[in-house]
Amino acid sequence: MNEWRRKRGKGKEKRGKGKGERGKRKDKRGKRKGKMKKRILSGMRPTGKLHLGHYTGALENWIRLQDSYDNYHLIADWHVLTTSLDTSNAYEDTIDMVIDWLAAGLDPVKSPMFRQSQIKEHTELHLIFSMLITVNRLERNPTVKDQIRDLNIENITYGHLGYPVLQAADILLYKGDCVPVGEDQVPHIEISRELARKFNFAFGHVFPEPEPLLTQFSRLVGLDGNAKMSKSLGNTILLADEAEVVKGKLKKAVTDPQKMRKGDPGRPEVCLVFSYHKKYSPEETGEIDADCRSGKLGCVDCKMRCAAMISSFLEPIIEKRKYYESHRGEVMDVLLDGERRARVTAEATMGEVREKVRLG
Ligand code: ATP
Ligand code: MG
Repeated sequence: MNEWRRKRGKGKEKRGKGKGERGKRKDKRGKRKGKMKKRILSGMRPTGKLHLGHYTGALENWIRLQDSYDNYHLIADWHVLTTSLDTSNAYEDTIDMVIDWLAAGLDPVKSPMFRQSQIKEHTELHLIFSMLITVNRLERNPTVKDQIRDLNIENITYGHLGYPVLQAADILLYKGDCVPVGEDQVPHIEISRELARKFNFAFGHVFPEPEPLLTQFSRLVGLDGNAKMSKSLGNTILLADEAEVVKGKLKKAVTDPQKMRKGDPGRPEVCLVFSYHKKYSPEETGEIDADCRSGKLGCVDCKMRCAAMISSFLEPIIEKRKYYESHRGEVMDVLLDGERRARVTAEATMGEVREKVRLG
């Protein structure tokens, strides 16, 4: 039996009951009652290997919270179509992302992982939600505005503009109470809250109003100084990057433009490498700050110190990654099991929705 199946078996014993238990603990309005854990729903677009921004903004929280919440983690593959119609890498990108989730410590027993495209109820709820929000409201969404600017999009598609509506369906189909995401996603969660309220008001209560959960580093700056580390901007450090690669990338990172040579006094508050130190060398930031300001610490040394700290954090992830890379079948098993479990919840919620909407 492979490692994953063994763990899954144990998890089953521990949990004891499945959907029946959840069903019994609902009141008449469909709300979960009593001591049930709050539910987390969060996802990512499968655009390949993850970077530090994904980790510090979201994944770290997913892992930290997986014991205290009831979790669902979604691979937002339909969302990839908002910015690219090329699906030739969809499978590989999905597997690569799930490997990163597993290698970083997400436990598939506690946190079912599933592809959005395999649970058709997402589309049905998306359609209903799309009747509850105006185009005007979607055009005011700052995250889409940033994306249009960053990706030079001339004419946005209907589906791309409606990205947050599909996202609301993703969250609310599982009655997510909390959504651990990076700061860029907060406006989308606000749209989910509005849609939950609107639906509950128009048809009757089904949905909770989900709240975002942010980490301390909810927007990690990119290596080029852009406000967001992002794959599409090519300014990332990947969780899979070996030490030499991390060093090479950090060498090119922008620092305080006023600090030209080693002896020049620097300003850590405007330096992105210092912002990485805050995350990866928290005990050394006092000293680094002082030595940068005095000119004692040059940028090259500072960057190499930072690279070493990041690599010591990445080392165990890269090690686990190797295991899953040579056991891809196990990764697929994780997905199929996650999809089976997610489908049960999605079908139950859509049953309630259909009853309230009263069509057919
Ligand atoms: P990319 O453009 O790099 O492919 P993305 O924005 O398309 O990334 P998403 O799937 O939208 O990736 O993001 C997954 C999660 O990671 C979201 O919760 C998002 O807020 C978070 N995230 C992504 N980049 C960063 C970052 N630089 N800092 C903090 N959180 C981030
Ligand atoms: Mg994004």
